[in-house]
Amino acid sequence: MLAPDAISNQEPTGYVGRFAPSPSGPLHTGSLVCALASFLDARHNRGVWLVRMEDIDPPREQPDADKLILDCLTAHGLEWDKTVLFQSQQTEAYKTALAQLSEKALSYRCNCTRARLKSLKGRYDRHCIDHPPSKDEPAAVKLNLPKVLATLKHHSTTQLNTFIDGILGQQYEKLQQSDDFVIHRKDGLFAYQLAVVVDDIAQNISHVVRGADLLSTTIKQQLLFFLFGAKPPAYSHIPLITDTNGNKLSKQNHAPAVNTGTPEKNLIKACRLLYLSNDHSDYSNLHQSSVNDILTWATQQWNIKQLAKQSAAVQSTFTEDEP
Ligand code: GLU
Ligand code: ZN
Repeated sequence: MLAPDAISNQEPTGYVGRFAPSPSGPLHTGSLVCALASFLDARHNRGVWLVRMEDIDPPREQPDADKLILDCLTAHGLEWDKTVLFQSQQTEAYKTALAQLSEKALSYRCNCTRARLKSLKGRYDRHCIDHPPSKDEPAAVKLNLPKVLATLKHHSTTQLNTFIDGILGQQYEKLQQSDDFVIHRKDGLFAYQLAVVVDDIAQNISHVVRGADLLSTTIKQQLLFFLFGAKPPAYSHIPLITDTNGNKLSKQNHAPAVNTGTPEKNLIKACRLLYLSNDHSDYSNLHQSSVNDILTWATQQWNIKQLAKQSAAVQSTFTEDEP
């Protein structure tokens, strides 16, 4: 097996991965597991690993969460390559992307209220295409899906509507029946779907390893890649971690912040949750190890195929078992 030094001296492999947290709070066990999975996949494949702070939704952000997240990654030895990209610094790129789509008439403004959209109880009736809001009225910008699909006629329906997830296997969404989705919000904020793709393209991301809570966003993101003439990354989604009551561990559910004072213990727990070994003695042997030794072991053990097999066996019900 290669030691970390030998790994960094190898030729670049073209693999570029990233962890892209939103600073809505400190990392909890679930997000630490996702960060570790993305890091290990990059390091195991001798790739570059980036961190991008997705800080373009101030109402959902917590002051200092960006610093807490970066300090937490550092405490766990999850050291990123290059400087952290802050989405709040990228607004020109998002504006350019929005302008391109608007110039090609692939987007339109919609000022329907939430109540109106809800009252439709099903698909959006695309009212605002024929009744565009006036220029000075606040409005969301939506992608005109039928037009986009017509533009991408040279792609097969299978290519557009499916992808093979590295862990969860083939995924499908019939875009022809999906609602037009928001790329610029009515409150003036850039939509996650647009920003994430613009940045993944700008950063040459080749592999995305992230939580399964984002699985349902992926086919639409892949579509934006095709639309911008870029190759979509390979996606792998980590089954969500639940607490012992089956609740998803998330900031919304008030999952507790990771204790940065016990990085070794947290890493060992995260390694267990990622099924890095079936041999329990491997984990007990790690109890005296340093953060770097744990990461070196974990990088060697990382096996996304094994994770896929194990997660299929437990049908995505990762349960956090206390050590
Ligand atoms: N910022 C997103 C989140 O924290 C993740 C984006 C991504 O990995 O694509 O949920
Ligand atoms: Zn509308």
